[in-house]
Amino acid sequence: MSTFSFSRERIDAAQLRSRLTDPAAGGYASFEGWVRNHNDGLPVRHLEYEAFEQLAVKEGERIVAEALARFGVEHAACVHRIGDLAIGEMAVWVGVSSRHRHEAFLACRYIIDEVKHRVPIWKKEHYENGDSGWVNCERCATPSQVHEHAHDHGDGHAHEHSHEHGDGRAPEHSTDHTPAKPDYSRQMTLKEVGAAGQAKLRASAVLVVGCGGLGVPVISYLAGAGIGRLGLLDSDRLEASNLHRQTLYSLADTGQPKAELAAARVRSLNPEVNVTVHAVRLEAGNAAELIAPYDLVVDCTDNFTTKFLLNDHCVHLGKPVIFASVYQYEGQLQVVRPDKEGACLRCVWPEATRDGLVGNCAEAGVLGPVPGVFGSLQAFEALKVLLDLPGQSGNAIVVLDLLTLSLSRVTARRASSCPQHATARLAAPEPAQDDIEVSFDSLDEACAAGFEVIDIREARECSEVPIPCAQARHTPMAQLLYGQSPFVAKDRSLLVCASGRRSLAAAQELRSRGQTAVYSFKGGIAALAEDQGRTWPEPRTTYL
Ligand SMILES: [Zn+2]
Repeated sequence: MSTFSFSRERIDAAQLRSRLTDPAAGGYASFEGWVRNHNDGLPVRHLEYEAFEQLAVKEGERIVAEALARFGVEHAACVHRIGDLAIGEMAVWVGVSSRHRHEAFLACRYIIDEVKHRVPIWKKEHYENGDSGWVNCERCATPSQVHEHAHDHGDGHAHEHSHEHGDGRAPEHSTDHTPAKPDYSRQMTLKEVGAAGQAKLRASAVLVVGCGGLGVPVISYLAGAGIGRLGLLDSDRLEASNLHRQTLYSLADTGQPKAELAAARVRSLNPEVNVTVHAVRLEAGNAAELIAPYDLVVDCTDNFTTKFLLNDHCVHLGKPVIFASVYQYEGQLQVVRPDKEGACLRCVWPEATRDGLVGNCAEAGVLGPVPGVFGSLQAFEALKVLLDLPGQSGNAIVVLDLLTLSLSRVTARRASSCPQHATARLAAPEPAQDDIEVSFDSLDEACAAGFEVIDIREARECSEVPIPCAQARHTPMAQLLYGQSPFVAKDRSLLVCASGRRSLAAAQELRSRGQTAVYSFKGGIAALAEDQGRTWPEPRTTYL
């Protein structure tokens, strides 16, 4: 016999009681919860209970097992009604038999309190005035309320919920200082969500990679929605320049690790969410281990190395991953569903785009709401996947231009080489190109060593911070890579940018086209400034 179960039929207490009889037991204590005809001043006509049964039964059985171990009682069981209940019907029954009455009372009390607190059961009340509303029964178990219903149990028959909601259901009506409990009623009212959907969210674990402009809305909405476990991955610290798009943080937080800051905000938004901080960079060596404990991954990074790394691991592990990237006023969204045999990033782009070829926020500039819009779309797609909502994105790649509000949508096709083209990468990392980055104390020294120095920054950057080298040639990166006449390296060409990041990407790209004499100046112009003890803007590698 299962110690915790749900019943769609009327609960037969006598029959349940008979199952607990034992010659060794000298006492039996029981609690019955009944449907009463009023709540919070509103006359109630009837009510409905709903539960995410699979999860609820597991948690219920755990509670009964805890009671047996904790109080040393002989037998215990609990049955909860679900479905439509009339006034006066029994909604929940708890029975305990034991050697002595004392532990029977305690175990009985323990079970009903824990069931109310921990088991995902929701109640929909139908009022006399025709209204109805979902009430999350977990709210009943705030510590200040638990002691109030001790008097209910005198005759073993207490009225269901007689203790609750006495000070108003919504926190704004509250006059005391009882901490507010999360309230999911607004989303549970949607018929596609309901109690079962809420329980699914509670049972799910999501890894958010990047706690920046895209990550902030993802984290806020998923925390608000009541996701059971959130992993927050980011190795960066907050900079003042992040704040226009990263609305979870404040100016006083600058210099603090973002993943820690985001975790603190999640805890204050919704203490029911279990948060794990991963203040590391996602790399080939740690990716599998970091991703494995989660059901779904949201990519909120601004670099392609990480995106493809996530793609390859998620394809290998069969986990859905939601990608977005933004560039100036537009952005792109793609949901990869290896669990549904969907197309992955490599089905569309077999080779990872090199970082630096597309600007990140620091280099390209961005208005705050742009990553905000795309992060919000990602949060929504995550909820769609977790709740299995209708209208899944399939293999669509959606591009939205926020200046014109034009949206284009292409459907990616799953390549015949999928998933091997992704999983094969896990075993064979990209070959290292040791000699591609070079360092000199000054660029004149590089010229003296026979390098042709090419400044690949944009014209605006060159006028703001002129390159300290009289012989340098200026060719912006786009022209260098995609200009009318293809670039041909002379003897040895040394590419220079602000931070060394774009120049490395450009050099890698040119080498992949057979130009083996192209090099990148390590650390860029910022490295030269450091050597001379001057203050230059830091090269940024912040997540969007
Ligand atoms: Zn693929």
